[in-house]
Parts: sequence; structure tokens; C-alpha cells
Amino acid sequence: MTDLFDLEHIWHPYTSMLNPLPTFKVKRAYGATIELEDGQTLVDGMSSWWCAIHGYNHPELNQAVSDQLQNMAHIMFGGLTHEPAIELGKLLLKITPPNLDKIFYADSGSVSVEVALKMAVQYWVALNQPEKTNFITTRSGYHGDTWNAMSVCDPVTGMHQIFGTSLPNRIFVPAPQSRFDGEWDPQDIQELKQQIEQHHHSIAALIIEPIVQGAGGMRFYHPEYLRQAKALCEQYNLLLIFDEIATGFGRTGKMFAWEHAQVEPDIMCIGKGLTGGYMTLSATLTTKQVAETISRGEAGVFMHGPTFMANPLACAVALRSTQLLVEQDWQANIQRIEKILAEQLTDLAQLDHVADVRVLGAIGVVELTANVDMKTLQQQFVERGIWVRPFGKLVYVMPPYVISDDELHYLLTQLIEVVKSMQGDNANVLA
Ligand code: PMP
Repeated sequence: MTDLFDLEHIWHPYTSMLNPLPTFKVKRAYGATIELEDGQTLVDGMSSWWCAIHGYNHPELNQAVSDQLQNMAHIMFGGLTHEPAIELGKLLLKITPPNLDKIFYADSGSVSVEVALKMAVQYWVALNQPEKTNFITTRSGYHGDTWNAMSVCDPVTGMHQIFGTSLPNRIFVPAPQSRFDGEWDPQDIQELKQQIEQHHHSIAALIIEPIVQGAGGMRFYHPEYLRQAKALCEQYNLLLIFDEIATGFGRTGKMFAWEHAQVEPDIMCIGKGLTGGYMTLSATLTTKQVAETISRGEAGVFMHGPTFMANPLACAVALRSTQLLVEQDWQANIQRIEKILAEQLTDLAQLDHVADVRVLGAIGVVELTANVDMKTLQQQFVERGIWVRPFGKLVYVMPPYVISDDELHYLLTQLIEVVKSMQGDNANVLA
């Protein structure tokens, strides 16, 4: 049941205030279960947009928050520091690419992308190449909703049309076409090569989501793309920025997706699953060399400092969440989920209205041949007791890692029935 105040006054993501999509009021959530106000329970397929890796209401994460609360909820990070930020930092450096050495804590994924882009620009200014201010990226990417993050999102599915010339002009190359588990097609890298050859004097960095392009299309591409992109960046003096905000913390079957290609970036953004979905926190990591070069520049400092930088509550829960992940056999758990996703979803590819089915780690994607009517489909999923939020042509799941086999089977069985039913009476959910 949609709450009337909510409907009238509260803006939800990407929604019209004239014709808002219905919302479902949540009373509580625990494990992989979302309980609505009327008592109905839904098996969660979304992890609250990649975040809630350990599920909801986790006793140890709750404890970490309440323990930290006894000391301080927040303290400014300018001139002060604290244990949660330090301990989290130590752990992050152990699990991220070995070349990364400096951590900048920020407050959301988009902000960490802004920070990464600013680092790249300040780096080249410090090296007396102030003309290197632009960015190159692939189509079908998604990096967030703030201004510069938007500018490097896919120009078609992103927001370029709406914001027009107010967005800086970036250089886009086609999205990689070689599939993650398919043959590498050397053609894939050609446009990137040409554009870098032509424009490298004005480009600060290549920014890309490694292996999985998330909100820009849920595409999984070949690791060779990253290896060749890295070589081009080295050859033509571009920094390489990996946006691991969605792919991080085990989701793709590796702790971070760079490991699939063994390519280390110069700058890396993390967020989302960092706090186990408890609150907003992100980090931008970089190398000693990039950090020291920026610091040797005329400005002498890196020019960014959000109010809630390294919020202690967020750092404390992030530390516990990351410890929880590394303490368990998380890889075996992701493989368990991957196996069930593949077993159950693959057959859908035979349906006429299904264009593709793909699974990587704890991500399962069913790509349809036409856009879905989100409102109708959402309602159908909720009626069947599952929480899945499709967009465009994509019906996809990325469940919390704590989901049991039974819950996952239920989630997928219901999802599959809805997708199958789209052919007959239910065909109106396809645009
Ligand atoms: N980059 C990627 C790859 C993302 O998936 C997202 C969030 N969907 C962001 C950046 C932006 O993060 P946030 O919503 O926390 O600002």
C-alpha cells in the first residue's frame, strides 16, 4: 500500500512527481527478507542496489554501530582522526590492488568518482601538463549522479540529453563487445586506441567499471580489454581509474573485479558494499606516486574535504562488514550463488522475448528484447513475494550473500514464472 504523504511529497529516485511509481512501505528487514508494513515478506534480490552484502539487521553489524555510538557518532576529519578510519584503512589496503597506498574517504559513490576525477586533473597540473583535463570512457558505463560523474555515464542511457551542454564533453568509445567468458575480439580495443592516440594530450584519465558495467546495462566484458586499456594508458600517459563501487566486495566472484584481469589501476573508487549497506561511505584509493605528485604541485594539497568524510559510525560498520567478509569462505559462498543462478536462469535464453541470460558471481541478468513496464512488473514480483527491480530491458538479481539455497530457489522460481508469463496474457509488461 502506497503511503499518501509519501506519494504527494517525497521524491523517490528517478521518479515523476506528477505520476509517481507506487512505493511499498517497509517495516523491517532481516537476513535476505524484507517485511512490508502489512506483514507481507519479500525475498530480496537486490541487496539494496549492491550494498547489503551480509543481509539486513545483521547482529554483528548492529553491534559495531552501537559500540561506536557509545564513543562518538561523528567527528570532523580535518585535523582529527580515529581508530575506525585507521583500522578500516589497514584492512582495505590488504584487499585492494597492491600498488594502492593512499585512501581518501568520502560520503557516497558519486562523490568518490568526483574525487577520483579531481585527483587525475590535479595530478597532471602538478606535472605541468594542465591541458590534460578531459576524460575518456566507454559507452554503457555508469558512475553516479553528480555533475562530473554524470558526464562520464553513457551519453544515451545516461542523462546527457536532459542536461545538454551543461555537462562537460567527454570522449566516448564503444562499450567492449567481447563477452567475459567468450573469445577476445581484437577489434574491441581499436576505437579506444585511436581516440587515445588522437587526444592523449588533453586526456587526464580513462575511467571504467572493470569487468561489469552495472547500471549502464549489466554487461560483463572480457578481461583482455582491461589489459590492453592499461597498456594504452601507460603508453600515452593517462591515469587509469577503476570504478569498483558496484563490483567490489566479492560480488563478481573476486574480492574486486580488477583481479579477473590482474590489472592495477592508478585510482580506484569503492562504496556501496563497503559498509555492508548500513550507511553511506565511499573511498578513493590511489598510489603513493599519484598522491605525492599531487602534493608536490603548486597547490600542495588535494582540494577536497567533505563534512562527513570518514564518518566514524560508517567506518566502524565498514570495518566489521569487511572483516566479516574476509573471515568467511566468501568465495565458496559466491560460487554457491553463482551455480544456482546459472542452473536456474540459463534456460530462459530459449524464450523468444529473452535476448540474453548471463551470470557472473552473485549477479544474474535476464535481458529481454524490449523494455519492461516497471510498474506492472514490480507489482507482480511483490505479489509473488520477491523484491526485484527491473530497469529498461533488464530483469536482474544480485542477492545478499546470506541468502539461503531455499530463498534463492524461491526468488528465481518466481522471477522465472513472471518472465515466462510475459509471452501470453502478461505480454503488456513488455513495451
Ligand atoms: N559508480 C557505480 C559503478 C555505481 O553503480 C554507482 C551507484 N549505482 C555509483 C558510481 C554512484 O554511487 P552512489 O549512488 O553511492 O553515489
